[in-house]
Amino acid sequence: MTRILFCLFLLSLIITSQAAETVIVENAHLRMAFNTKPVPTLREMAKKPSGSNLIANVASPLFVLQVLQANGSTSLVESLQAKRGSVEVTPVAGGQRILLIFDGLGPTGDLEVSLEGRLDDAVPFVRWSIMVENPGQLQIVAVRFPYVVAVPMIGSPSDDFLIGPALPGVMIENPDKNWPAQYSISWKFPGDQSAQFCAYQDLTSGVYLASMDTVGYGRSLNISKRNRSYVLYQEYQLASAPSAQWKSPYETALGVTSGPWQQTADLYKRWAVRQSWCAKTLAQRDDIPAFWKQGACIHTCEVRTYDEHRLCNGSYYPKVLGHMRSLRDRIGGPVVPMLPGWENFRRWTAGAYFPVFDADQAKGVLGQLRQDGLRPFFYLSGLYYTFQNEGRDSDDVPGWKRYADAFVIDAMARGPKTYVLDESTPDKKNVWKRHCYGFCPAAPGAKPFFCSVIDQLHALGVDIVQMDQTTSGAGDACFSASHGHAPGRGVYQSQAFRELLAEMRRHGQSLSPEFMLTHEEPHEELIPYVDAFHTREYRERWWYHGAPGARSIPLFTYLYHEYAIAYGGEGPSASAAKNPATVRDMAVNLVTGKTPAVSVWSNQKAMAEAHEDQIRMLRNHMGLLKTDAQRFLVLGRMLHPLEFAVSSVTFQIGKGPFEERAVLTSSWQSPEGLVGHCFVNIADQKQSLDLSLDTRGAADWAKADIDVYRALSADRKALYRSVALPRRYTLDLEPLEAAFIVIRPAK
Ligand SMILES: [Zn+2]
Repeated sequence: MTRILFCLFLLSLIITSQAAETVIVENAHLRMAFNTKPVPTLREMAKKPSGSNLIANVASPLFVLQVLQANGSTSLVESLQAKRGSVEVTPVAGGQRILLIFDGLGPTGDLEVSLEGRLDDAVPFVRWSIMVENPGQLQIVAVRFPYVVAVPMIGSPSDDFLIGPALPGVMIENPDKNWPAQYSISWKFPGDQSAQFCAYQDLTSGVYLASMDTVGYGRSLNISKRNRSYVLYQEYQLASAPSAQWKSPYETALGVTSGPWQQTADLYKRWAVRQSWCAKTLAQRDDIPAFWKQGACIHTCEVRTYDEHRLCNGSYYPKVLGHMRSLRDRIGGPVVPMLPGWENFRRWTAGAYFPVFDADQAKGVLGQLRQDGLRPFFYLSGLYYTFQNEGRDSDDVPGWKRYADAFVIDAMARGPKTYVLDESTPDKKNVWKRHCYGFCPAAPGAKPFFCSVIDQLHALGVDIVQMDQTTSGAGDACFSASHGHAPGRGVYQSQAFRELLAEMRRHGQSLSPEFMLTHEEPHEELIPYVDAFHTREYRERWWYHGAPGARSIPLFTYLYHEYAIAYGGEGPSASAAKNPATVRDMAVNLVTGKTPAVSVWSNQKAMAEAHEDQIRMLRNHMGLLKTDAQRFLVLGRMLHPLEFAVSSVTFQIGKGPFEERAVLTSSWQSPEGLVGHCFVNIADQKQSLDLSLDTRGAADWAKADIDVYRALSADRKALYRSVALPRRYTLDLEPLEAAFIVIRPAK
C-alpha cells in the first residue's frame, strides 16, 4: 500500500510539472495540447482514440489580426508577437472551458486578445469566441481565428481530401499531388460560400473548421498549401469603424473529423438544422406551390433569334408554344419554359425591362403558355441597372437616373459604382459588354422598384421570377450616407438582401398563389426566402469547381435537400450529336435530387434534334418523378450512399479526362420515413450491381418489404416481402437505365 501511494505521489508530481509547460483539453473524441511558453501555441490536435497529431511541427500563431495603416497598407498582428500569454482549463458542467489571454500586442503594446473555448463531452470540436481589447482604436479590418497549421499529409497523402462549401459543394482530391506549391483557396460570404464549414482529412482523421453565423456577417474559410503544412483559418471581416473593443459576433468550431465527406457534413448538419433557415421541411412548407414540388423540367429557350454574326434578327415567340408542347410530349412530364432574351433591350439588360421584347406577340404567347399549363419563367438581372450595352446589338439604355438614389456608392468615386459583365469572345472580335449600376438592397428605393417589376411581369402572365446574378447571396458594400446603413461593408448587406427577397415574394404571392421566386446558386440563410435554388452540381472543372483536383459533391443537397428545392440549372445543353458528358450531366441532376433541366438558349432547333440518349435520360427523370420516388428525390433527406463495386467511365470535360463511376447512386429518406436508393447507369453497357440493401442507419426495422421502380415503365415490382436487412440483391441495369429501390417496414 505504501508503495502504491508513493507511486501515485510521484505521478502527481510529474503531471504538475508537465502542466506548467502543457495544457490539455480533451474528451473521448478530441485531444488538444497547448504549449504555454513562451506564449501559448497549439502543439497537438488529434482524433481519439487512435488519430495521429494533425498539427505541423512549426511555430504558428493561434490568431492573426489584419490592421489598416494610415498610409492604406495593412500590417499583421499575431499571437506569437505577444509579450505575455496564459492558458487555463477549467471543468464545467458537461465539458471543459479553456481561456487563452495574450497581451502586449500591436505597435504600442496595448492590444490584448482573449480566446475562449468550450469542449462539450459529446462532440469532437471546441466552440470558440475571440475578444480584442483595442484601446488605441487601431483599424482592424479582419480577424483570422481559428487559425491552425496542419501537417502536410495525413498518413499517405493519396487519399487526403479537402471539403469546401463552394455553392453546391466541392471536394479537392489529393491536394498534395494536385495543388501547386503555395496554392490557396478561399470561400467567402458574401461570395461563393453557401454553408459554413471546411475540412482537410482522410478516412481516418482530419481537421474540421466551421463558422456558426446565424445572421450573415462578412466572413471566409481559407485553406493554403505551404512548404511543409496546410494553413486553415476562419476570417471575420470587420465593419469600417474602429472600436475600443471587438467581440466575435458568432462562435466558430475547430476540431477533428474522419470518414467520408458525408460524415463530416453530419457534424455541421447537427448545428445547421437547429437554425432558423431549417424551421420547416419541404413537406411542411406550404409557401411553395404544389406544382413545383411535383418536379417540372426547366427548359431554357431564348425568345430572340440571331443571325450568323450573333445579332438579333427576329422573334421566336410564334414557335414557343409548339416547341414547349413537343418537349413535354417527348419527355413525358411537365415543362416550365425559362425564356431568356425577354428584356426590352439586349439579353441581360438589367432594370430597363419594359416594354418587353416583341411585346405585341409576347403577351399573347405567354397567355397561351399559361393556359396550356406551361408557366413561363423569367430571370431578373439581379440588382443591376444597365446604362449602356457595348458591342453586338449595342444601345445606350435610358431610365437609370430615376433610380440613382438607390444605387451602390463607390468608396473612391463617391458616385454610383459601375459594374461590367464582359461576355466578349477571347480574341475580342466579338465585343459584348454590359455596363451597369447596382441597387443597394438597403436603399429605400430598392423594394418599390423590384415590386413594380413583379407587377408588370404579372400583368404579362409571368409569375415565376429568378433573382439571377446575385450569386454572392447579398448586396455589395455601399458607401452611401443616405441609405440608412453605416457606410462601407456591414451585416446590412445580407440582412437587406433577405428583406428585399422577402418583400418581392410577399408582393408576388399577393398577386398570384402560384408566384415563385428563385435564386441563382444556393445559400443556407436564403432557404426560407425563396421557392427554389438554381444549381449546377453537374458542372465540373468550372468556376467554383475549378481548383486543381476539384470535383463537385452534392454537399448543399446533403445538408438541406429536405428544406429546399433546387433545379438542375440552365443546362445541360441539348444537341443532335451523341454526347455522353451531357447525358451524364442530366443523370447528375437526377441522382442528386435536383428537378430536371435542359437548355437550348438561342439554338432553338437543338431541342427537336436532341440525341435520343438525352431524351432518354430526361424521360428517366420524369418517369421516376411520377412514382413514389418523387417523395425521396424532391422532398427527402439525403443519406450516406450505398457502396458497391462498379466499373468507371471516362468523359472529356474541360482540359482532359474525367473519371466517373458507370452507375451514379444516392440514398434517401422520405418524409414518411421510408428509405430509397437511386441508380442511374450512365454507360453504354449493361451493368450488374451486387448490392447489400439496408436503411443506411435511418431506420431499424425487424423485417422489410423491398420494391424496385424502373424509370421508363414507371412500374413498381415487388422484390421481397418481410425480409431481414441487409439484403443481398443483384440489380441489372440496361444502358442509360435508371431505377429506384424503396424499402419500407414489413406490414
Ligand atoms: Zn447603400
